[in-house]
Amino acid sequence: MAESKIIQSINPATLAVNAEFEPASPGDMKTFVEASREAQKAWARTPIRRRLEHLLKVNRFMLSNVDDIARVITIDNGKTLLEAVNTEILPVLDTLNFCDSDLLRATSDEKLSNPIFPVARIESSNIYEPLGVIGIISPWNFPFAIPMSQIIVALALGNGVVLKPSEFTPLVGDMIKRIFDEAGLPEGLFIVAQGLGTELGDPLVEAHPDKIVFTGSVPVGRHLMTKAAEQVIPIVLELGGKDPFIVLEDADVERASSAAVWGAFVNAGQVCASVERVYVHESLVEHFTEVVIEKTQRLRLGDGTNPDVDMGPMINERRIALVEAHIGDAVAKGAAVRTGGKRASPGGLPGHFFEPTVLTGVNHTMDCINEETFGPTLPIMPFSNTAEAIDLANDSKYGLLSSVWSRSTKNAREVARRIEAGTVIINDCLFTYGFSQCPWGGVKNSGTGRTHSVHGIREFVNIKNITVSKSPLREDLWWYPYSKSKFNGMKAGMQALYCEGLRCRAGGILDALRSFNLLGNK
Ligand code: NAD
Repeated sequence: MAESKIIQSINPATLAVNAEFEPASPGDMKTFVEASREAQKAWARTPIRRRLEHLLKVNRFMLSNVDDIARVITIDNGKTLLEAVNTEILPVLDTLNFCDSDLLRATSDEKLSNPIFPVARIESSNIYEPLGVIGIISPWNFPFAIPMSQIIVALALGNGVVLKPSEFTPLVGDMIKRIFDEAGLPEGLFIVAQGLGTELGDPLVEAHPDKIVFTGSVPVGRHLMTKAAEQVIPIVLELGGKDPFIVLEDADVERASSAAVWGAFVNAGQVCASVERVYVHESLVEHFTEVVIEKTQRLRLGDGTNPDVDMGPMINERRIALVEAHIGDAVAKGAAVRTGGKRASPGGLPGHFFEPTVLTGVNHTMDCINEETFGPTLPIMPFSNTAEAIDLANDSKYGLLSSVWSRSTKNAREVARRIEAGTVIINDCLFTYGFSQCPWGGVKNSGTGRTHSVHGIREFVNIKNITVSKSPLREDLWWYPYSKSKFNGMKAGMQALYCEGLRCRAGGILDALRSFNLLGNK
């Protein structure tokens, strides 16, 4: 029984077992949260500059070990070495840099103003303090960049962290632990709990961390939100996407087609912000489709550790089966597979390979358009005018990223404003995840809350307001005892502060002074 619970890291290209890990037990989660909370008390009092010094050791370590880190990511997840560098390591280095440059500014005390404050001699400010312990649950598709960027910001702001990495990429989870060991953090502050989400997820929430940051699928996100509600714990949800890619009539087809191919097949299409639906103006669709097919057929499938490979394997059999189901559903309803569409074994490799697939003749009754495929498919659909393209793009339960293509940035911006999404990228796709200043998150089923950016920083702090009264009066005007004159005074005060005309305001001031007996007569 104990054996079946061992967590294995399996290379998705070769199916070789990389390593095995002893999972945490559900009962450990309470111990982990408590240990992190204990260590966090002193960490929160450590000046932010000193906390950042620890984290800059992570920066140095990463820069000196890029090859090793990339290799671990590739053999655990399957993506190519170049993708491990570009889409996993680089965003983490950018997060460290962002913390160093922007964290202090985003969390410095903030003085507030209000027209009443000077009159009533009030000083009010917001301070930003750590929340406590953050429970982070993360997926396998970006097993390094996603948890690392969240952990770094959480720790820099003075929190403790308990991380539950995906059971499909435990080798990267273990590497994250080892990287933070290098940072010399206080014992217990940051803990990695390896194991199945179905076993450790609920106990982690029940251990009552101060916030949960979950990145993963909609059903699990929904479940965790309910669990968090029972404990009244706030939760950030970074969930799935079905991102539209709109090619307007005046788009640069050469560039847009290359972007669509990359955006659909990077990480074998296993990206929350993958290009999953392509809408092309009817005047361009034929040419665009031909170029996309040609570029797709040039992609080299294989083991991601070979630097000359463009696309690695998928993570596991379950994911391949879903891609096949979506293609099968589309074909049954009249779609055409223009290239790809089947499993592959490049160089005789036994892993989870699937050919990059282009579909046409698709429509909004098909799963490949309505549901997250999370695999290497690129369905193309024509539209006849911009309003129709916007309606098609918004006809989805998801709203993570979007991409709009046009030679007129002005027109593209107009379209961008009307798309329901957390991010719209004009004349490119996907890449804003790599820039820590850009907020990351979605609307509708794509989740709630933000990571990255100043808005993401604020997810990890308690915004505490401190207000000081320096009133010389013995009693505030709104305290007891109540009277008719106070009632009239408050009404007049409202006129004085909020009435639109100057005369009305002046009248309000006089009436208020009279009512509160501040003019010396009754
Ligand atoms: P998943 O929901 O199956 O798993 C995510 C994490 O949750 C894993 O650590 C898993 O162990 C854990 N988990 C699973 N069941 C659980 C349960 N019952 N209770 C608590 N935790 C549980 O998702 P996945 O397959 O790892 O990742 C793919 C999904 O993640 C896709 O839908 C993708 O779009 C989404 N995703 C979103 C973003 C984003 O930024 N919005 C980024 C990456 C991935």
